[in-house]
Amino acid sequence: MKFSEFATYLEKLEKTSSRNEITQILADLFKKTSQKEIDKVVYLVSGQLAPSYIGIDFNIAEKLMLRIIAKAFGQKLETVADQFKKMGDLGIVAEGYAYGKDGGASVLDVYQTLFEMAGQEGGGSQERKITQTAELLSSLDSLSVRFITRIPTGNLRLGFSDMTILDALSYMETGDKSLRSRIEAAFNVTVDIGKIAKAVKQKGTFVLKDVLPEPGTPIRPSLAERLPSAEKILEKVGSKVIVEPKYDGFRAQVHIYKLKTQNSKLKTEVVIFSRNLENTTNMFPDIVEAVKKIKVGSAIFDGEAIAYDAKSGKFLPFQETAQRKRKYGIPEAIKNLPLKLFIFDILYKDGKNLLPLPFSERRKILESTVFKIDGVEIIRQEVTGDAKVIRDLIQKYLAEGLEGALIKKIDAPYKAGARGYHWVKYKKTTGAGVADTIDCLVMGVNRGKGKRVGFGVGAFLVGVKDGNKFKTTSKIGTGLTDEQWRELDKRSKYLEVSNMPGEYEVDKNLVPDAWTKPSLVVEILADEITVSPIHTAGLALRFPRLINFRNEKNPDQTTTLRELEGLFKMQKI
Ligand code: ATP
Repeated sequence: MKFSEFATYLEKLEKTSSRNEITQILADLFKKTSQKEIDKVVYLVSGQLAPSYIGIDFNIAEKLMLRIIAKAFGQKLETVADQFKKMGDLGIVAEGYAYGKDGGASVLDVYQTLFEMAGQEGGGSQERKITQTAELLSSLDSLSVRFITRIPTGNLRLGFSDMTILDALSYMETGDKSLRSRIEAAFNVTVDIGKIAKAVKQKGTFVLKDVLPEPGTPIRPSLAERLPSAEKILEKVGSKVIVEPKYDGFRAQVHIYKLKTQNSKLKTEVVIFSRNLENTTNMFPDIVEAVKKIKVGSAIFDGEAIAYDAKSGKFLPFQETAQRKRKYGIPEAIKNLPLKLFIFDILYKDGKNLLPLPFSERRKILESTVFKIDGVEIIRQEVTGDAKVIRDLIQKYLAEGLEGALIKKIDAPYKAGARGYHWVKYKKTTGAGVADTIDCLVMGVNRGKGKRVGFGVGAFLVGVKDGNKFKTTSKIGTGLTDEQWRELDKRSKYLEVSNMPGEYEVDKNLVPDAWTKPSLVVEILADEITVSPIHTAGLALRFPRLINFRNEKNPDQTTTLRELEGLFKMQKI
């Protein structure tokens, strides 16, 4: 497919916000795409070159793109920068200068150039990026130029998620949604959506029933529901349940496998994925070294890593553990904030897919795989059918300074990618007011008044996800420490955009001083959820306060409106 034809699809996608239409356009595009191109097309429509866990970073900021545009079309940098200030959209600015001729580049040609450009590192790489990208831009028609400038700068947001791509793959095959659940099941087990698209295109969806976990490729994590009381938990999860402590650190999906080295020796490879399925291996060489001691050929574990005080051995609050998520100063951090990995599940072992096995059986396999190692422990657990025992355990965990408990269904398979009642979380706050904290997207900020002028931000607008949209649920002006205000100010400055992002739905009375693009997720605790006539979510948070900046969550993983409604109903039980 020629890139210019691909760009016409991107334009159609850009013009609509209807999920049905988006699905149809994508299905149509995928149908016309060849087997060789389909994986690349799937990555490119999402503004990427590979699944996010591979972490290909273009390292092209808007400023650099302005230089590229100037070079490509023989313009002065100041002129291009002025245009950008006026229009606020790099794609439109670049398109305005483009010659309008289609040089005939194919999707694969463009993909290849972008791929090479992203790989450029070291001395002179910036200049090479400018030259290569400028050459590419000057050889394309104006519509292609619009979209290509947006991809490396992270601005190709066409308002749909991976889930819509899964729908579209089903439509591509059958013209309806009937294959969606089969495709999604495969995606849950191996999150490379390009690979799945390619398999479907080449062989049809029947191959997906054989999709197995693969060490090195993340599995979508299982997530927990909420319930208001121990009695309700026994009613819904099972008359006997497993209770585990809930550590408040970060999720670590740990993959161990053997790789052949150049001289044909086998080397143990460890990869760690975050809750978001980003590859975080380089941040945690201490965990890597510790898990290498587990005697296993290959395995995938699910767990939570938490920092502890090196002297007292006491586990530290989330804010401290969060400091281990860093790119620099790692050796120092390891010394000051050592981590302990609590493994709570095993999903794969030595070629065997363990996902379908009942939890109790997976646990037995886990216990026969992991023995005492410094820095790694299997999470403790108790089996009970007694509500009082559940309550007592929760109190015990809380008294230890932990976040709460996870109550798990004994015979449930590992439900990859699903939030369900096979796992129920019970936190400090459960049972008092709102049963869980709410992960909201920061949609815009207001400048500070009075004392808060010094902090920059004085209030901020947050929302939850509803399909492809973000709907407001609170304008928060209190409940932050001085330090949190400053941090919010710093972060929001990087995210400010001149126009309201297309996926936002906001009442005109709540329009903030500055919009922020969908990126920053905050964890909010509220006393109550109430019906709201002005918030577009229809529900508002009473007495909201900021608990954490949730760096490990992306906007797709904010609390959904459906979940918020669930929490609202739960208040009445
Ligand atoms: P939150 O972490 O704020 O509760 P979440 O959406 O990130 O929300 P949930 O499914 O709601 O995730 O809660 C489960 C999380 O709790 C897991 O992602 C994991 O990081 C953490 N956790 C801590 N201890 C356990 C445990 N014993 N079993 C499973 N998950 C645990």
